[in-house]
Amino acid sequence: MNAPSHPPSFAPSGAAPLIDPFARAITYLRVSVTDRCDFRCTYCMAEHMQFLPKADLLTLEELERLSHSFIDLGVRKLRITGGEPLVRRNIMSFFRAMSERLGSGLDELTLTTNGSQLARFADELAGIGVRRINVSLDTLDPDRFAAITRWGRLPQVLDGIRAAAAAGIRVKINTVALKGFNEDELFPLLDWCADQGHDLTFIEVMPMGDIGGEDRLDQYWPLSDLRARLAERLTLTPLAERTGGPARYVRVEETGQKIGFITPLTHNFCESCNRVRVTCTGELFMCLGQEDRADLRAALRASDDEALLQSAIREAIARKPKGHDFDYSRGVGGKVSRNMSHTGG
Ligand code: SAM
Ligand code: SF4
Repeated sequence: MNAPSHPPSFAPSGAAPLIDPFARAITYLRVSVTDRCDFRCTYCMAEHMQFLPKADLLTLEELERLSHSFIDLGVRKLRITGGEPLVRRNIMSFFRAMSERLGSGLDELTLTTNGSQLARFADELAGIGVRRINVSLDTLDPDRFAAITRWGRLPQVLDGIRAAAAAGIRVKINTVALKGFNEDELFPLLDWCADQGHDLTFIEVMPMGDIGGEDRLDQYWPLSDLRARLAERLTLTPLAERTGGPARYVRVEETGQKIGFITPLTHNFCESCNRVRVTCTGELFMCLGQEDRADLRAALRASDDEALLQSAIREAIARKPKGHDFDYSRGVGGKVSRNMSHTGG
Protein backbone atom coordinates (compact mmCIF):
# COMPACT_ATOMS: atom_id res chain seq x y z
CA MET A 1 0.00 0.00 0.00
CA ASN A 2 1.25 3.51 -0.80
CA ALA A 3 1.70 6.01 1.98
CA PRO A 4 -0.64 9.01 1.79
CA SER A 5 1.02 11.95 0.03
CA HIS A 6 2.61 14.36 2.49
CA PRO A 7 0.51 17.43 3.06
CA PRO A 8 2.23 20.68 2.17
CA SER A 9 2.80 22.70 5.33
CA PHE A 10 1.16 25.80 3.87
CA ALA A 11 -0.68 27.01 0.79
CA PRO A 12 0.70 30.07 -1.06
CA SER A 13 -2.04 32.31 0.30
CA GLY A 14 -1.10 31.33 3.84
CA ALA A 15 -4.38 29.43 4.07
CA ALA A 16 -4.47 25.93 5.50
CA PRO A 17 -3.96 23.40 2.68
CA LEU A 18 -6.71 21.09 1.47
CA ILE A 19 -6.48 17.82 3.37
CA ASP A 20 -9.22 15.22 3.03
CA PRO A 21 -10.56 12.94 5.77
CA PHE A 22 -8.01 10.26 4.84
CA ALA A 23 -5.03 12.62 5.29
CA ARG A 24 -4.53 13.02 1.56
CA ALA A 25 -3.38 16.49 0.44
CA ILE A 26 -5.25 17.75 -2.61
CA THR A 27 -2.60 19.27 -4.84
CA TYR A 28 -3.85 18.40 -8.32
CA LEU A 29 -6.90 19.87 -10.06
CA ARG A 30 -8.29 18.84 -13.41
CA VAL A 31 -10.52 21.44 -15.01
CA SER A 32 -12.88 20.41 -17.77
CA VAL A 33 -13.44 23.63 -19.71
CA THR A 34 -16.10 22.27 -22.08
CA ASP A 35 -18.18 19.13 -22.53
CA ARG A 36 -18.12 19.61 -26.31
CA CYS A 37 -15.75 17.90 -28.70
CA ASP A 38 -14.93 17.73 -32.38
CA PHE A 39 -14.63 13.91 -32.14
CA ARG A 40 -17.12 11.28 -31.02
CA CYS A 41 -14.91 8.45 -29.76
CA THR A 42 -17.08 5.36 -29.48
CA TYR A 43 -16.01 4.51 -25.91
CA CYS A 44 -16.51 8.09 -24.71
CA MET A 45 -19.63 9.53 -26.34
CA ALA A 46 -22.75 8.54 -28.19
CA GLU A 47 -22.79 9.81 -31.78
CA HIS A 48 -25.65 12.18 -31.07
CA MET A 49 -24.64 13.60 -27.76
CA GLN A 50 -26.86 15.90 -25.79
CA PHE A 51 -24.54 18.69 -24.67
CA LEU A 52 -25.11 21.06 -21.78
CA PRO A 53 -26.98 24.28 -22.52
CA LYS A 54 -24.39 27.02 -23.09
CA ALA A 55 -26.04 29.12 -20.37
CA ASP A 56 -25.04 26.50 -17.77
CA LEU A 57 -21.34 26.83 -18.54
CA LEU A 58 -19.04 28.87 -16.38
CA THR A 59 -17.50 31.76 -18.24
CA LEU A 60 -13.75 31.65 -18.74
CA GLU A 61 -13.44 34.39 -16.12
CA GLU A 62 -15.37 32.23 -13.64
CA LEU A 63 -13.19 29.22 -14.45
CA GLU A 64 -10.17 31.44 -13.81
CA ARG A 65 -11.50 32.59 -10.45
CA LEU A 66 -12.25 29.03 -9.44
CA SER A 67 -8.80 27.80 -10.47
CA HIS A 68 -7.10 30.69 -8.64
CA SER A 69 -8.98 29.71 -5.48
CA PHE A 70 -7.76 26.12 -5.69
CA ILE A 71 -4.20 27.31 -6.27
CA ASP A 72 -4.52 29.62 -3.27
CA LEU A 73 -5.54 26.54 -1.27
CA GLY A 74 -2.46 24.55 -2.28
CA VAL A 75 -3.15 23.05 -5.71
CA ARG A 76 0.20 22.87 -7.54
CA LYS A 77 -0.72 21.10 -10.74
CA LEU A 78 -3.48 22.08 -13.13
CA ARG A 79 -4.55 19.90 -16.03
CA ILE A 80 -6.99 21.40 -18.54
CA THR A 81 -9.27 18.88 -20.19
CA GLY A 82 -12.77 18.40 -21.56
CA GLY A 83 -14.48 17.45 -23.92
CA GLU A 84 -11.83 18.84 -26.17
CA PRO A 85 -10.31 21.82 -24.34
CA LEU A 86 -8.87 23.43 -27.45
CA VAL A 87 -12.27 23.79 -29.13
CA ARG A 88 -13.58 26.18 -26.48
CA ARG A 89 -13.71 29.68 -27.93
CA ASN A 90 -10.94 31.97 -26.66
CA ILE A 91 -9.46 29.20 -24.51
CA MET A 92 -5.96 30.63 -24.82
CA SER A 93 -6.99 33.58 -22.65
CA PHE A 94 -7.67 31.08 -19.87
CA PHE A 95 -4.33 29.34 -20.45
CA ARG A 96 -2.52 32.68 -20.39
CA ALA A 97 -4.18 33.67 -17.13
CA MET A 98 -3.32 30.37 -15.48
CA SER A 99 0.26 30.46 -16.74
CA GLU A 100 0.78 33.58 -14.65
CA ARG A 101 0.55 31.33 -11.59
CA LEU A 102 3.47 29.18 -12.74
CA GLY A 103 6.16 29.69 -10.11
CA SER A 104 3.59 31.51 -8.00
CA GLY A 105 1.65 28.58 -6.58
CA LEU A 106 1.60 26.35 -9.65
CA ASP A 107 4.38 23.92 -10.53
CA GLU A 108 2.77 22.66 -13.69
CA LEU A 109 0.15 23.71 -16.22
CA THR A 110 -0.75 21.03 -18.71
CA LEU A 111 -3.57 19.65 -20.84
CA THR A 112 -5.10 16.50 -22.25
CA THR A 113 -6.15 16.87 -25.85
CA ASN A 114 -7.20 14.84 -28.85
CA GLY A 115 -4.59 16.79 -30.83
CA SER A 116 -6.91 18.06 -33.54
CA GLN A 117 -6.18 21.74 -32.83
CA LEU A 118 -2.59 21.41 -31.69
CA ALA A 119 -1.05 22.60 -34.94
CA ARG A 120 -2.73 25.97 -34.29
CA PHE A 121 -1.91 26.29 -30.61
CA ALA A 122 1.35 24.43 -29.95
CA ASP A 123 3.67 27.43 -30.24
CA GLU A 124 1.58 29.60 -27.97
CA LEU A 125 1.19 26.82 -25.40
CA ALA A 126 4.97 26.33 -25.37
CA GLY A 127 5.47 30.09 -25.11
CA ILE A 128 3.39 30.43 -21.93
CA GLY A 129 5.19 27.59 -20.19
CA VAL A 130 3.33 24.37 -21.03
CA ARG A 131 6.13 21.78 -20.98
CA ARG A 132 4.27 18.48 -21.31
CA ILE A 133 0.92 17.42 -22.72
CA ASN A 134 -1.07 14.24 -23.08
CA VAL A 135 -2.44 13.44 -26.53
CA SER A 136 -4.99 10.66 -26.96
CA LEU A 137 -4.28 8.32 -29.85
CA ASP A 138 -5.65 4.79 -30.03
CA THR A 139 -4.44 3.68 -33.44
CA LEU A 140 -2.01 4.63 -36.21
CA ASP A 141 -4.28 3.28 -38.93
CA PRO A 142 -6.22 6.10 -40.66
CA ASP A 143 -9.35 4.00 -41.28
CA ARG A 144 -9.45 2.65 -37.77
CA PHE A 145 -8.84 6.15 -36.44
CA ALA A 146 -11.84 7.45 -38.37
CA ALA A 147 -13.92 4.53 -37.10
CA ILE A 148 -13.04 4.89 -33.41
CA THR A 149 -13.28 8.70 -33.28
CA ARG A 150 -16.18 8.80 -35.78
CA TRP A 151 -15.33 12.40 -36.75
CA GLY A 152 -11.55 12.56 -36.38
CA ARG A 153 -8.88 12.40 -39.06
CA LEU A 154 -5.49 10.89 -38.27
CA PRO A 155 -3.26 13.17 -40.40
CA GLN A 156 -4.59 16.25 -38.59
CA VAL A 157 -3.71 14.74 -35.21
CA LEU A 158 -0.27 13.61 -36.36
CA ASP A 159 0.39 17.15 -37.62
CA GLY A 160 -0.64 18.48 -34.23
CA ILE A 161 1.67 16.08 -32.40
CA ARG A 162 4.55 17.07 -34.67
CA ALA A 163 3.85 20.76 -34.04
CA ALA A 164 3.88 20.21 -30.27
CA ALA A 165 7.16 18.31 -30.39
CA ALA A 166 8.70 20.93 -32.68
CA ALA A 167 7.68 23.62 -30.18
CA GLY A 168 9.62 21.75 -27.50
CA ILE A 169 6.61 20.28 -25.68
CA ARG A 170 7.04 16.76 -24.39
CA VAL A 171 4.21 14.53 -25.63
CA LYS A 172 2.78 11.57 -23.80
CA ILE A 173 0.48 9.43 -25.90
CA ASN A 174 -2.59 8.02 -24.12
CA THR A 175 -4.00 4.90 -25.71
CA VAL A 176 -7.20 3.24 -24.58
CA ALA A 177 -6.72 -0.54 -24.75
CA LEU A 178 -9.66 -1.90 -26.73
CA LYS A 179 -10.25 -5.58 -27.22
CA GLY A 180 -10.37 -6.62 -30.85
CA PHE A 181 -9.54 -3.05 -31.95
CA ASN A 182 -5.93 -2.16 -31.23
CA GLU A 183 -4.60 -5.42 -29.79
CA ASP A 184 -2.59 -6.02 -32.96
CA GLU A 185 -1.13 -2.48 -32.78
CA LEU A 186 0.52 -2.93 -29.42
CA PHE A 187 4.04 -3.23 -30.84
CA PRO A 188 3.58 -0.84 -33.80
CA LEU A 189 2.40 1.85 -31.36
CA LEU A 190 5.30 1.16 -29.06
CA ASP A 191 7.79 1.35 -31.93
CA TRP A 192 6.28 4.55 -33.28
CA CYS A 193 6.47 6.21 -29.85
CA ALA A 194 10.09 5.07 -29.42
CA ASP A 195 10.94 6.46 -32.82
CA GLN A 196 9.23 9.81 -32.15
CA GLY A 197 10.51 10.09 -28.57
CA HIS A 198 7.06 10.04 -26.94
CA ASP A 199 6.13 8.32 -23.72
CA LEU A 200 3.13 6.00 -23.93
CA THR A 201 0.43 5.19 -21.42
CA PHE A 202 -2.28 2.58 -21.82
CA ILE A 203 -5.71 3.12 -20.25
CA GLU A 204 -8.29 0.50 -19.41
CA VAL A 205 -11.71 1.38 -20.73
CA MET A 206 -13.93 2.60 -17.89
CA PRO A 207 -17.68 2.13 -17.50
CA MET A 208 -18.69 5.78 -17.71
CA GLY A 209 -21.86 7.14 -19.27
CA ASP A 210 -24.20 6.03 -22.00
CA ILE A 211 -22.39 5.54 -25.30
CA GLY A 212 -25.39 4.36 -27.29
CA GLY A 213 -25.46 0.71 -28.24
CA GLU A 214 -21.87 -0.36 -27.57
CA ASP A 215 -21.10 -2.47 -24.54
CA ARG A 216 -17.91 -1.62 -22.69
CA LEU A 217 -17.56 -5.18 -21.50
CA ASP A 218 -17.05 -6.07 -25.17
CA GLN A 219 -14.37 -3.35 -25.41
CA TYR A 220 -12.57 -4.23 -22.19
CA TRP A 221 -9.00 -5.47 -22.69
CA PRO A 222 -7.38 -5.90 -19.27
CA LEU A 223 -3.98 -4.26 -19.05
CA SER A 224 -2.68 -7.28 -17.13
CA ASP A 225 -3.00 -9.16 -20.41
CA LEU A 226 -1.50 -6.31 -22.44
CA ARG A 227 1.45 -6.08 -20.07
CA ALA A 228 2.03 -9.84 -20.18
CA ARG A 229 2.22 -9.63 -23.99
CA LEU A 230 4.82 -6.87 -23.75
CA ALA A 231 6.82 -8.88 -21.23
CA GLU A 232 6.97 -11.85 -23.62
CA ARG A 233 9.19 -9.81 -25.96
CA LEU A 234 10.67 -7.04 -23.82
CA THR A 235 12.35 -6.51 -20.46
CA LEU A 236 10.09 -4.32 -18.31
CA THR A 237 11.53 -2.76 -15.16
CA PRO A 238 8.92 -1.33 -12.77
CA LEU A 239 9.62 2.31 -11.87
CA ALA A 240 9.01 3.79 -8.45
CA GLU A 241 7.54 6.96 -10.00
CA ARG A 242 4.12 7.88 -8.59
CA THR A 243 1.82 10.68 -9.68
CA GLY A 244 -0.86 10.24 -7.03
CA GLY A 245 -3.08 8.68 -9.68
CA PRO A 246 -3.87 5.21 -10.91
CA ALA A 247 -0.88 5.08 -13.31
CA ARG A 248 2.07 2.76 -12.81
CA TYR A 249 5.18 2.92 -14.98
CA VAL A 250 7.82 0.58 -16.34
CA ARG A 251 10.97 1.19 -18.35
CA VAL A 252 11.51 -0.89 -21.48
CA GLU A 253 15.18 -1.84 -21.13
CA GLU A 254 15.63 -2.46 -24.86
CA THR A 255 14.55 1.09 -25.86
CA GLY A 256 14.69 3.16 -22.66
CA GLN A 257 11.03 4.08 -23.16
CA LYS A 258 8.69 4.78 -20.26
CA ILE A 259 5.36 2.97 -20.48
CA GLY A 260 2.42 3.71 -18.20
CA PHE A 261 -0.57 1.58 -17.26
CA ILE A 262 -3.76 3.16 -15.95
CA THR A 263 -5.75 0.36 -14.40
CA PRO A 264 -8.53 1.73 -12.24
CA LEU A 265 -10.49 -1.49 -12.68
CA THR A 266 -7.97 -4.20 -11.98
CA HIS A 267 -6.07 -2.21 -9.36
CA ASN A 268 -7.11 0.38 -6.94
CA PHE A 269 -4.59 3.05 -5.92
CA CYS A 270 -7.04 5.34 -4.20
CA GLU A 271 -5.03 5.56 -0.98
CA SER A 272 -2.56 7.97 -2.58
CA CYS A 273 -5.14 10.01 -4.55
CA ASN A 274 -4.22 13.71 -4.60
CA ARG A 275 -6.71 15.00 -7.17
CA VAL A 276 -10.19 16.38 -7.73
CA ARG A 277 -12.02 17.43 -10.88
CA VAL A 278 -14.14 20.42 -11.70
CA THR A 279 -16.52 20.49 -14.66
CA CYS A 280 -17.34 23.34 -17.03
CA THR A 281 -20.48 24.03 -15.00
CA GLY A 282 -18.58 24.29 -11.73
CA GLU A 283 -19.45 20.88 -10.30
CA LEU A 284 -16.64 19.52 -8.19
CA PHE A 285 -16.19 15.75 -8.32
CA MET A 286 -14.15 14.49 -5.44
CA CYS A 287 -13.72 11.07 -7.10
CA LEU A 288 -13.85 10.07 -10.77
CA GLY A 289 -15.59 6.82 -9.87
CA GLN A 290 -18.32 8.16 -7.58
CA GLU A 291 -21.46 10.22 -8.11
CA ASP A 292 -21.06 12.66 -5.20
CA ARG A 293 -20.37 16.24 -6.28
CA ALA A 294 -20.47 19.79 -4.96
CA ASP A 295 -21.94 22.77 -6.74
CA LEU A 296 -19.26 25.45 -6.76
CA ARG A 297 -21.10 27.58 -9.31
CA ALA A 298 -23.62 28.64 -6.69
CA ALA A 299 -20.84 29.75 -4.35
CA LEU A 300 -19.01 31.48 -7.22
CA ARG A 301 -22.06 33.43 -8.27
CA ALA A 302 -23.41 34.17 -4.81
CA SER A 303 -20.73 36.73 -4.06
CA ASP A 304 -17.29 38.04 -4.97
CA ASP A 305 -16.12 37.04 -1.55
CA GLU A 306 -13.33 34.48 -1.81
CA ALA A 307 -14.09 33.20 1.68
CA LEU A 308 -17.46 31.81 0.58
CA LEU A 309 -15.96 29.98 -2.39
CA GLN A 310 -13.08 28.63 -0.35
CA SER A 311 -15.36 27.34 2.35
CA ALA A 312 -17.51 25.57 -0.29
CA ILE A 313 -14.33 23.93 -1.61
CA ARG A 314 -13.27 22.89 1.90
CA GLU A 315 -16.69 21.41 2.66
CA ALA A 316 -16.52 19.34 -0.52
CA ILE A 317 -12.99 18.07 0.19
CA ALA A 318 -14.20 16.99 3.63
CA ARG A 319 -16.52 14.57 1.76
CA LYS A 320 -13.87 13.06 -0.54
CA PRO A 321 -14.52 9.31 -0.42
CA LYS A 322 -11.90 6.74 0.40
CA GLY A 323 -12.06 5.18 -3.05
CA HIS A 324 -14.01 4.45 -6.18
CA ASP A 325 -16.46 1.72 -6.95
CA PHE A 326 -15.86 0.62 -10.54
CA ASP A 327 -16.59 -3.05 -10.94
CA TYR A 328 -17.56 -4.83 -14.13
CA SER A 329 -18.39 -7.98 -12.20
CA ARG A 330 -21.48 -6.28 -10.78
CA GLY A 331 -22.83 -5.47 -14.23
CA VAL A 332 -24.28 -1.96 -14.30
CA GLY A 333 -23.90 -1.65 -10.52
CA GLY A 334 -20.33 -0.41 -10.56
CA LYS A 335 -20.91 2.08 -13.31
CA VAL A 336 -20.91 5.87 -13.27
CA SER A 337 -23.74 7.56 -15.15
CA ARG A 338 -21.81 10.52 -16.57
CA ASN A 339 -19.53 10.31 -19.58
CA MET A 340 -15.78 10.83 -19.23
CA SER A 341 -16.13 13.95 -21.36
CA HIS A 342 -18.33 15.45 -18.63
CA THR A 343 -15.82 15.17 -15.81
CA GLY A 344 -12.67 15.31 -17.93
CA GLY A 345 -10.35 12.30 -18.10
N1 SAM B 1 -10.67 15.24 -25.64
C1 SAM B 1 -9.47 15.09 -24.92
C2 SAM B 1 -8.80 13.78 -25.26
O1 SAM B 1 -9.42 12.91 -25.88
O2 SAM B 1 -7.64 13.62 -24.89
C3 SAM B 1 -9.60 15.23 -23.42
C4 SAM B 1 -10.80 14.62 -22.77
S1 SAM B 1 -10.92 12.86 -22.88
C5 SAM B 1 -12.43 12.57 -22.00
C6 SAM B 1 -9.63 12.37 -21.77
C7 SAM B 1 -9.19 10.92 -21.86
O3 SAM B 1 -10.26 10.10 -21.46
C8 SAM B 1 -8.79 10.46 -23.24
O4 SAM B 1 -7.48 9.92 -23.19
C9 SAM B 1 -9.79 9.38 -23.58
O5 SAM B 1 -9.22 8.37 -24.35
C10 SAM B 1 -10.19 8.91 -22.21
N2 SAM B 1 -11.51 8.27 -22.14
C11 SAM B 1 -12.71 8.72 -22.56
N3 SAM B 1 -13.70 7.85 -22.26
C12 SAM B 1 -13.10 6.82 -21.61
C13 SAM B 1 -13.57 5.60 -21.03
N4 SAM B 1 -14.84 5.29 -21.03
N5 SAM B 1 -12.65 4.79 -20.46
C14 SAM B 1 -11.34 5.10 -20.42
N6 SAM B 1 -10.82 6.23 -20.93
C15 SAM B 1 -11.70 7.08 -21.54
FE1 SF4 C 1 -13.71 13.85 -27.51
FE2 SF4 C 1 -11.69 13.11 -25.97
FE3 SF4 C 1 -14.12 11.98 -25.67
FE4 SF4 C 1 -12.72 11.43 -27.84
S1 SF4 C 1 -12.13 10.93 -25.73
S2 SF4 C 1 -14.90 12.02 -27.79
S3 SF4 C 1 -11.66 13.30 -28.20
S4 SF4 C 1 -13.60 14.07 -25.28
